[in-house]
Amino acid sequence: MISDVELQLRIESAYRLLEKCRVCPRECGVNRLKDEKTGFCRSGLNPVISSVSPHHGEEPPISGTKGSGTIFFTNCNLKCEYCQNYPISQMGNGVERSPGELACQMIWLQEQGCHNLNLVTPTHFMPQILKAFGIARERGFDLPIVYNTSGYESLEALKLLDGIVDIYMPDMRYSDDRLAVKYSAAPHYAEINRAAIREMYRQAGNLVLDGNGIAKKGLLIRHLVLPGGLSGTGGIMKFLAEKISKDVYISLMSQYFPAFKATEHEVINRRITAEEYEEACRIMEKYGLENGWIQNLD
Ligand code: SF4
Repeated sequence: MISDVELQLRIESAYRLLEKCRVCPRECGVNRLKDEKTGFCRSGLNPVISSVSPHHGEEPPISGTKGSGTIFFTNCNLKCEYCQNYPISQMGNGVERSPGELACQMIWLQEQGCHNLNLVTPTHFMPQILKAFGIARERGFDLPIVYNTSGYESLEALKLLDGIVDIYMPDMRYSDDRLAVKYSAAPHYAEINRAAIREMYRQAGNLVLDGNGIAKKGLLIRHLVLPGGLSGTGGIMKFLAEKISKDVYISLMSQYFPAFKATEHEVINRRITAEEYEEACRIMEKYGLENGWIQNLD
């Protein structure tokens, strides 16, 4: 755990990123300290929150028996054509809160008995989250922090989270940058995503569970299998096995359905087939990646 003085310094450094915004790799350069909301993520000075609640639908070591204390942030630094949460990520559904109010929500989740604080889509509000965490910690907040992200992260921002985030739960969405641009408007996604995963692993290591099977720290990768092989499962599993660790935990997700603008695209306008998901499972096996979870297709 980092000291109070170090935490204050990190908060100050994080807020400096907002001035000509470079909180994420897009580096839009807008002044979010002046509440300008013209960057890619349309976010300003204060965090916007869509929901706060104990959540029981995450992977077993995250949800446990008492639920994961989830705070769902509005807006996103990706624009996935198939986003299943598009009213929140793309249409701005949510309520603006001050960091102090966000701190109260963190404490409330702890009071509900949740196993952890699960920050969903936190990237574009990282500085405000750090500030809220500082306030909450002064009031006794001490849950493990889960950083549940798209994995499109700036290394400079991630380094400010070292010793603060306990569990990183990033997506690995694509191996092919052209597809990342086409379906998520995310240039250089593969390179940026892989650099972020390396940094997360450097900070947190492999997933560590307590005696009850609850995650205490580490890295948990999420990979959503897209139709037509668009998610580049082979490249991602090869990278994880060769550059991260064969012991890394992976959640291989079959839950894709065509939402938002997916119906406008030929390839992603359907669910995945059993064969596509089985092929993704086989690839994991081929690379000796045995830790994690697979889902039933239905
Ligand atoms: S956090 Fe938002 S405004 Fe800042 S660089 Fe990223 S997309 Fe742009």
